[in-house]
Amino acid sequence: MNISRVTKSPEETHALGKDIGKRLSGGDIVAITGDLGAGKTCLSQGIGWGAGIDSNVYMTSPTFTLVKQYKGRVPIYHIDLFRMRTIEEVYELPIEDYFSGKGITIIEWADRIEPLLPKGHFRIDIELISENERRIKIYSGD
Ligand code: ADP
Ligand code: MG
Repeated sequence: MNISRVTKSPEETHALGKDIGKRLSGGDIVAITGDLGAGKTCLSQGIGWGAGIDSNVYMTSPTFTLVKQYKGRVPIYHIDLFRMRTIEEVYELPIEDYFSGKGITIIEWADRIEPLLPKGHFRIDIELISENERRIKIYSGD
């Protein structure tokens, strides 16, 4: 996947996310970066729907845990590292399970665990252009 797109509304970001999510399968890891309010969660919702999460389920950022699991075509793990204080908190998670190949893992603030991201993951960078415009780039990570 190598896509660069400007979306002009949250709905357009949802639609792009769905497109991405449809192409994912078990074992795929999507590492998302972008500032607060860039649209990482918005895009994650779309990706989740494209990957089979029920359309009335809105993925939200968990408040007290770093990970939330959803039911899609395969298990979907949504990791949000916004509240991570030290990388040790991530070492305590069963991260091998998420990266094992059975589920799809979506990571917000992925740059915070850069060294832990396995080979072959997808990267998505979201850049805030204006109040309603976002530049979204999707490419292969290292
Ligand atoms: P993050 O998870 O990166 O902190 P969120 O997805 O929670 O960001 O929030 C993005 C905010 O930006 C939402 O309030 C959304 O309505 C707004 N927004 C405006 N335009 C867009 C767009 N084109 N794509 C995504 N979100 C947008
Ligand atoms: Mg978020």
